[in-house]
Amino acid sequence: MDGKEIAALIDELHGFHRAAAELNHRIQRGRRAVAAGVAAQKKAADALAARREEKRNLLLAAKEKERESDAAARELERRRAQLDAAKSNREYDSIQIQIESIAYKNDELAEAAFEALTAAEEFDAEVEKAEAELKEATALVEKARAAVVEAEPKLTADLERLQGRIREAEGRLPRDWAGLYAKVVKDFGGEEAFAPLTGEGYCGSCRRRLPVEILTKVCGGAALVCPACGRLLYMPSGFVLK
Ligand SMILES: [Zn+2]
Repeated sequence: MDGKEIAALIDELHGFHRAAAELNHRIQRGRRAVAAGVAAQKKAADALAARREEKRNLLLAAKEKERESDAAARELERRRAQLDAAKSNREYDSIQIQIESIAYKNDELAEAAFEALTAAEEFDAEVEKAEAELKEATALVEKARAAVVEAEPKLTADLERLQGRIREAEGRLPRDWAGLYAKVVKDFGGEEAFAPLTGEGYCGSCRRRLPVEILTKVCGGAALVCPACGRLLYMPSGFVLK
Protein backbone atom coordinates (compact mmCIF):
# COMPACT_ATOMS: atom_id res chain seq x y z
CA MET A 1 0.00 0.00 0.00
CA ASP A 2 1.47 3.37 -0.96
CA GLY A 3 1.10 6.65 0.94
CA LYS A 4 -2.01 7.73 -0.96
CA GLU A 5 -3.75 4.37 -0.48
CA ILE A 6 -3.04 4.20 3.23
CA ALA A 7 -4.16 7.85 3.62
CA ALA A 8 -7.45 7.06 1.86
CA LEU A 9 -8.00 4.02 4.09
CA ILE A 10 -7.32 5.94 7.34
CA ASP A 11 -9.49 8.81 6.09
CA GLU A 12 -12.28 6.31 5.44
CA LEU A 13 -11.85 4.79 8.90
CA HIS A 14 -11.89 8.24 10.50
CA GLY A 15 -15.17 8.97 8.70
CA PHE A 16 -16.68 5.67 9.95
CA HIS A 17 -15.58 6.37 13.53
CA ARG A 18 -16.96 9.91 13.32
CA ALA A 19 -20.31 8.58 12.10
CA ALA A 20 -20.29 5.91 14.86
CA ALA A 21 -19.61 8.59 17.49
CA GLU A 22 -22.53 10.66 16.17
CA LEU A 23 -24.86 7.62 16.30
CA ASN A 24 -23.71 6.80 19.84
CA HIS A 25 -24.25 10.41 20.82
CA ARG A 26 -27.81 10.35 19.48
CA ILE A 27 -28.58 7.05 21.26
CA GLN A 28 -27.20 8.41 24.56
CA ARG A 29 -29.01 11.74 24.13
CA GLY A 30 -32.37 9.92 23.81
CA ARG A 31 -31.67 7.82 26.90
CA ARG A 32 -30.53 10.88 28.88
CA ALA A 33 -33.75 12.70 27.93
CA VAL A 34 -35.78 9.77 29.31
CA ALA A 35 -33.72 9.66 32.53
CA ALA A 36 -34.11 13.44 33.01
CA GLY A 37 -37.85 13.13 32.32
CA VAL A 38 -38.23 10.34 34.88
CA ALA A 39 -36.39 12.44 37.50
CA ALA A 40 -38.60 15.46 36.76
CA GLN A 41 -41.71 13.27 36.95
CA LYS A 42 -40.68 11.89 40.35
CA LYS A 43 -40.02 15.41 41.64
CA ALA A 44 -43.48 16.54 40.45
CA ALA A 45 -45.12 13.46 42.05
CA ASP A 46 -43.35 14.18 45.36
CA ALA A 47 -44.43 17.83 45.20
CA LEU A 48 -48.05 16.79 44.59
CA ALA A 49 -47.98 14.34 47.52
CA ALA A 50 -46.64 17.14 49.76
CA ARG A 51 -49.41 19.54 48.61
CA ARG A 52 -52.08 16.90 49.25
CA GLU A 53 -50.65 16.31 52.73
CA GLU A 54 -50.77 20.07 53.42
CA LYS A 55 -54.37 20.15 52.24
CA ARG A 56 -55.29 17.27 54.60
CA ASN A 57 -53.63 19.09 57.51
CA LEU A 58 -55.50 22.31 56.72
CA LEU A 59 -58.81 20.41 56.65
CA LEU A 60 -58.01 18.71 59.97
CA ALA A 61 -57.18 22.10 61.49
CA ALA A 62 -60.46 23.53 60.15
CA LYS A 63 -62.44 20.57 61.61
CA GLU A 64 -60.78 21.11 64.98
CA LYS A 65 -61.71 24.81 64.93
CA GLU A 66 -65.27 23.85 63.99
CA ARG A 67 -65.50 21.43 66.92
CA GLU A 68 -64.26 24.14 69.32
CA SER A 69 -66.80 26.58 67.93
CA ASP A 70 -69.66 24.04 68.24
CA ALA A 71 -68.69 23.28 71.84
CA ALA A 72 -68.73 26.99 72.69
CA ALA A 73 -72.16 27.35 71.06
CA ARG A 74 -73.52 24.46 73.16
CA GLU A 75 -72.06 26.03 76.31
CA LEU A 76 -73.81 29.28 75.43
CA GLU A 77 -77.16 27.45 75.09
CA ARG A 78 -76.64 25.78 78.45
CA ARG A 79 -75.91 29.11 80.17
CA ARG A 80 -78.92 30.77 78.57
CA ALA A 81 -81.13 27.98 79.95
CA GLN A 82 -79.61 28.60 83.40
CA LEU A 83 -80.45 32.27 83.06
CA ASP A 84 -84.15 31.44 82.72
CA ALA A 85 -83.94 29.33 85.89
CA ALA A 86 -82.09 31.97 87.96
CA LYS A 87 -83.49 32.25 91.47
CA SER A 88 -82.17 35.70 92.34
CA ASN A 89 -81.09 38.89 90.67
CA ARG A 90 -77.57 38.27 91.85
CA GLU A 91 -77.44 34.83 90.24
CA TYR A 92 -79.02 36.25 87.11
CA ASP A 93 -76.37 38.99 86.85
CA SER A 94 -73.56 36.52 87.45
CA ILE A 95 -74.81 34.17 84.69
CA GLN A 96 -75.38 37.16 82.41
CA ILE A 97 -71.69 38.17 82.76
CA GLN A 98 -70.57 34.61 81.97
CA ILE A 99 -72.85 34.53 78.93
CA GLU A 100 -71.33 37.73 77.57
CA SER A 101 -67.85 36.35 77.99
CA ILE A 102 -68.76 33.02 76.33
CA ALA A 103 -70.61 34.80 73.50
CA TYR A 104 -67.54 36.92 72.78
CA LYS A 105 -65.30 33.85 72.76
CA ASN A 106 -67.87 32.03 70.61
CA ASP A 107 -67.74 34.77 67.95
CA GLU A 108 -63.97 34.54 67.86
CA LEU A 109 -64.03 30.75 67.52
CA ALA A 110 -66.66 30.86 64.78
CA GLU A 111 -64.56 33.36 62.87
CA ALA A 112 -61.41 31.24 63.33
CA ALA A 113 -63.28 28.14 62.09
CA PHE A 114 -64.49 30.03 59.02
CA GLU A 115 -60.98 31.33 58.28
CA ALA A 116 -59.44 27.86 58.63
CA LEU A 117 -62.03 26.38 56.25
CA THR A 118 -61.44 29.20 53.75
CA ALA A 119 -57.66 28.60 53.90
CA ALA A 120 -58.20 24.88 53.25
CA GLU A 121 -60.50 25.60 50.30
CA GLU A 122 -58.14 28.17 48.82
CA PHE A 123 -55.31 25.64 48.99
CA ASP A 124 -57.10 23.61 46.29
CA ALA A 125 -55.47 25.93 43.73
CA GLU A 126 -52.02 24.78 44.94
CA VAL A 127 -53.03 21.12 44.69
CA GLU A 128 -54.43 21.65 41.18
CA LYS A 129 -51.26 23.42 40.09
CA ALA A 130 -49.13 20.49 41.35
CA GLU A 131 -51.47 18.04 39.56
CA ALA A 132 -51.06 19.98 36.31
CA GLU A 133 -47.27 19.97 36.73
CA LEU A 134 -47.22 16.20 37.26
CA LYS A 135 -49.42 15.71 34.20
CA GLU A 136 -47.06 17.84 32.13
CA ALA A 137 -43.96 16.01 33.44
CA THR A 138 -45.63 12.65 32.68
CA ALA A 139 -46.46 13.76 29.13
CA LEU A 140 -42.84 14.84 28.60
CA VAL A 141 -41.36 11.56 29.82
CA GLU A 142 -43.82 9.61 27.65
CA LYS A 143 -42.83 11.72 24.66
CA ALA A 144 -39.12 11.10 25.37
CA ARG A 145 -39.76 7.33 25.73
CA ALA A 146 -41.75 7.24 22.48
CA ALA A 147 -38.90 9.07 20.71
CA VAL A 148 -36.40 6.47 21.97
CA VAL A 149 -38.67 3.56 21.01
CA GLU A 150 -39.02 5.02 17.54
CA ALA A 151 -35.42 6.12 16.90
CA GLU A 152 -33.18 3.73 18.83
CA PRO A 153 -33.70 0.49 16.86
CA LYS A 154 -32.72 2.25 13.64
CA LEU A 155 -29.76 4.04 15.27
CA THR A 156 -28.57 0.75 16.79
CA ALA A 157 -28.92 -1.07 13.46
CA ASP A 158 -27.03 1.76 11.69
CA LEU A 159 -24.31 1.57 14.35
CA GLU A 160 -23.96 -2.20 13.97
CA ARG A 161 -23.73 -1.85 10.20
CA LEU A 162 -21.09 0.84 10.64
CA GLN A 163 -19.10 -1.32 13.05
CA GLY A 164 -19.12 -4.06 10.40
CA ARG A 165 -17.70 -1.60 7.87
CA ILE A 166 -15.07 -0.47 10.40
CA ARG A 167 -13.99 -4.10 10.96
CA GLU A 168 -13.87 -4.70 7.21
CA ALA A 169 -11.72 -1.58 6.62
CA GLU A 170 -9.47 -2.46 9.58
CA GLY A 171 -8.89 -5.83 7.93
CA ARG A 172 -7.31 -3.98 5.01
CA LEU A 173 -4.72 -2.17 7.19
CA PRO A 174 -1.10 -3.09 6.41
CA ARG A 175 0.73 -4.98 9.18
CA ASP A 176 2.91 -2.02 10.16
CA TRP A 177 -0.25 0.04 10.77
CA ALA A 178 -2.52 -2.51 12.43
CA GLY A 179 -0.85 -2.64 15.87
CA LEU A 180 -0.40 1.12 16.33
CA TYR A 181 -3.88 1.81 14.93
CA ALA A 182 -5.52 -0.67 17.35
CA LYS A 183 -3.67 0.77 20.34
CA VAL A 184 -4.39 4.44 19.58
CA VAL A 185 -8.06 3.83 18.70
CA LYS A 186 -8.45 1.90 21.96
CA ASP A 187 -6.65 4.60 24.01
CA PHE A 188 -8.68 7.48 22.58
CA GLY A 189 -11.95 5.60 22.22
CA GLY A 190 -12.56 5.82 18.45
CA GLU A 191 -13.11 9.09 16.63
CA GLU A 192 -10.74 11.03 18.91
CA ALA A 193 -7.80 8.83 17.83
CA PHE A 194 -7.37 10.54 14.44
CA ALA A 195 -5.30 13.60 13.62
CA PRO A 196 -5.52 14.65 9.95
CA LEU A 197 -2.64 16.87 8.82
CA THR A 198 -3.49 20.47 7.99
CA GLY A 199 -2.19 22.09 4.80
CA GLU A 200 0.07 24.27 6.96
CA GLY A 201 1.78 21.17 8.40
CA TYR A 202 0.00 21.14 11.79
CA CYS A 203 -1.58 18.29 13.73
CA GLY A 204 -5.27 18.66 12.90
CA SER A 205 -6.20 17.71 16.43
CA CYS A 206 -3.90 19.55 18.84
CA ARG A 207 -2.77 22.21 16.28
CA ARG A 208 0.97 21.79 17.01
CA ARG A 209 3.37 22.38 14.14
CA LEU A 210 4.91 19.07 13.06
CA PRO A 211 8.60 18.57 12.17
CA VAL A 212 9.27 18.29 8.44
CA GLU A 213 10.65 14.74 8.70
CA ILE A 214 7.41 13.56 10.35
CA LEU A 215 5.34 15.26 7.63
CA THR A 216 7.44 13.58 4.96
CA LYS A 217 7.13 10.14 6.57
CA VAL A 218 3.35 10.48 7.11
CA CYS A 219 2.89 11.58 3.47
CA GLY A 220 4.91 8.52 2.47
CA GLY A 221 2.45 6.25 4.32
CA ALA A 222 4.31 5.65 7.61
CA ALA A 223 2.32 4.86 10.75
CA LEU A 224 3.14 7.68 13.20
CA VAL A 225 1.47 9.50 16.04
CA CYS A 226 1.62 13.23 16.77
CA PRO A 227 4.55 13.76 19.19
CA ALA A 228 2.42 16.24 21.17
CA CYS A 229 -1.02 14.60 21.49
CA GLY A 230 -0.33 10.99 20.52
CA ARG A 231 -3.06 10.73 17.86
CA LEU A 232 -2.67 8.92 14.53
CA LEU A 233 -1.40 11.28 11.85
CA TYR A 234 -2.67 10.89 8.29
CA MET A 235 -3.28 12.85 5.07
CA PRO A 236 -6.99 13.68 4.78
CA SER A 237 -8.58 13.48 1.33
CA GLY A 238 -7.65 16.46 -0.86
CA PHE A 239 -4.62 17.17 1.34
CA VAL A 240 -2.05 19.56 -0.17
CA LEU A 241 0.93 20.78 1.86
CA LYS A 242 1.25 24.57 1.47
ZN1 LIG B 1 -1.44 16.44 17.93
